[in-house]
Amino acid sequence: MKRKTKIVATLGPASDSPEVLSRLLSAGVNVVRINFSHGSADDHRGRVARVRATASELGLPVAVLADLQGPKIRIESFVDDAVELEAGQRFTLDTQLAADAGTREQVAIHYPPLLDDVKPGGQLLINDGAISLAVDEVDDHRIVCTVEVGGKLSGRKGVNLRGGGLSAGGLTEKDFGDIRVAAELEADYLAVSFVRSASDMHEARRLLTEAGGKARLCAKIERAEAITALDEIIEASDAVMVARGDLGVEIGDPELPGVQKRIIAQAREMNRLVITATQMMESMIENPIPTRAEVLDVANATLDGTDAVMLSAETAVGRYPVQTVAAMGNICIGAEREATADRPISGLAAHFERTDEAIAMATMYTARHMHADAIIALTESGTTALLMSRQDTHIPIYALTQYPASERYLALCRNVFPVAFSPSELNGVVPVEEAVACLKTRGDLEKGDRALLTKGDFTGPGGTNAMKIITVD
Ligand code: PGA
Ligand code: MN
Repeated sequence: MKRKTKIVATLGPASDSPEVLSRLLSAGVNVVRINFSHGSADDHRGRVARVRATASELGLPVAVLADLQGPKIRIESFVDDAVELEAGQRFTLDTQLAADAGTREQVAIHYPPLLDDVKPGGQLLINDGAISLAVDEVDDHRIVCTVEVGGKLSGRKGVNLRGGGLSAGGLTEKDFGDIRVAAELEADYLAVSFVRSASDMHEARRLLTEAGGKARLCAKIERAEAITALDEIIEASDAVMVARGDLGVEIGDPELPGVQKRIIAQAREMNRLVITATQMMESMIENPIPTRAEVLDVANATLDGTDAVMLSAETAVGRYPVQTVAAMGNICIGAEREATADRPISGLAAHFERTDEAIAMATMYTARHMHADAIIALTESGTTALLMSRQDTHIPIYALTQYPASERYLALCRNVFPVAFSPSELNGVVPVEEAVACLKTRGDLEKGDRALLTKGDFTGPGGTNAMKIITVD
């Protein structure tokens, strides 16, 4: 059985060697994430070049997702490497303290707007929620807190406010430069961190376009405010990420499972892609097998209908990057197999404005009722395949395209299998026989299979206007 759910793997020191990279892609990575929070532009250039070379050697469509750091608020550093905070003690964040002067009593935080964002009675979380502080008092340069949950704290750790509302803007100066690097690298996806509203996405799109980039935009949903503005953010994006690391800290664990399901359902409903991210196989950073909780977490996201599940430190700095990808892929396949019934055709617009949408939905309906073996989309932009993939089905959708960029775009798309296809005749007669032959050669179709094929009578994106029913001979 083919795996429908795609895997995004973050690259880092653990996956930089050509040998490991090649094994990672062979093990089933569909999208690589370049994390702009770490490393230099040259590191990113090197990684992307190696991925492109390895993917083409292996003949695999692999997309590159460039992930911007965004306005993450961080504490500065300590005189010693780290301090040990104890529950009940006082701890002060000071906007005027020297950057390296932190002690067990106080640390610098060079972000003055924080003084307006936090109020006595509020809760600050440091290092992905590992340390929790209750805010007692705020003056013109200090936030005086009582430690609620202590532990070891080292410098440059991220800070979140429970309930959200930190005023940090959407994109930083560093992001502006990184967007230019992403454009230069011809990234397929650009992920925007700590999005607050649709206007953050519009700004990112404007900057990317100015830099000559064509990447699709992914909004990372990781602030409480983004949940309130969810629909408009999805509308302004091509994809969204359930960025559970920061989101969980802001909205709290009890809210997280429901919100994950809501984001996935809403993205699919609005014909957008969705990635579920963070701590999915966390224990495999150190161990060769996952915990049962992780197995169930990956399976649950798969059953929710996510397009992709993401690995972060597991593949960037973990000890078992290749095993993690293989294990994750197997869990997805198992969960997909168990979801026995296709969901009913859903989310259909009352009125189809567009011809390609009408054909895509007619094809899904027919494929279900005919129990077709395959769906074949002859596509340029990939839109027809995307629209079809928003309906969950066990029937694989093969997207045949002559454009490598469309292949890479669709690499993230659930149940879509991009195939490079260069028909001998581009205009005029659409080469249906050639498409079938191509899939037979790959072993995706065999004699007697019934397939539904969509195509356009003219070239150009959005040109799909016909469905054909084929029995393979
Ligand atoms: P990050 O985003 O890994 O860049 O923090 C994902 C998340 O917050 O879950
Ligand atoms: Mn994050």
